[in-house]
Amino acid sequence: MKDKIRFGNSSITYTISKSKRRKTSQIIVDSKGVQVQTPLSKTNSEIKKMVTNKKEWIFKKRLEFQDKKNRKRVKTKTKTLEYLERRTWKLASKIGVKPSQVVVKKLKSRWGSAGKTGIITLNEVLLKTPPRIIDYVIIHELCHLKIRNHSSKFWSLLYSHDKKFQDKINWLELHSKELFKKK
Ligand SMILES: [Zn+2]
Repeated sequence: MKDKIRFGNSSITYTISKSKRRKTSQIIVDSKGVQVQTPLSKTNSEIKKMVTNKKEWIFKKRLEFQDKKNRKRVKTKTKTLEYLERRTWKLASKIGVKPSQVVVKKLKSRWGSAGKTGIITLNEVLLKTPPRIIDYVIIHELCHLKIRNHSSKFWSLLYSHDKKFQDKINWLELHSKELFKKK
């Protein structure tokens, strides 16, 4: 069963699990939440008292787990930035072009660009788009290393590497407002 106590402006919810075999009580705080393991004889109000006595400790412990989760999220983010880079090199060798450098960063209004010196720049907002969209933007910019403009030659080169590119252009147009809205 579940119960909770107040702690300042927030509350602490905990799960109670009673066991015949238990002789002592124990409070466990982990990523799943707060769990109180007690002998069968313990009443719920006794348990509440026990949790109340330990509330500062529980609260601190819970914060630690949230921090850990946040750190994990940051780690995942750098991994995906690397993903954009790795994906670019992979597609570049498939297409047969060699960027001088691949840069992933925040861009104000573009998905990506291909610089004169061969630098491919990608907007990190792409991380919020599906893989097929990421691939399209990368392929688009890589094709610019061969053909700088948007001539029909360019589009047929693009077509040879991505038969469904028009779908992706439509997707990007549909979503550009929301993706560029925040920073
Ligand atoms: Zn272009």
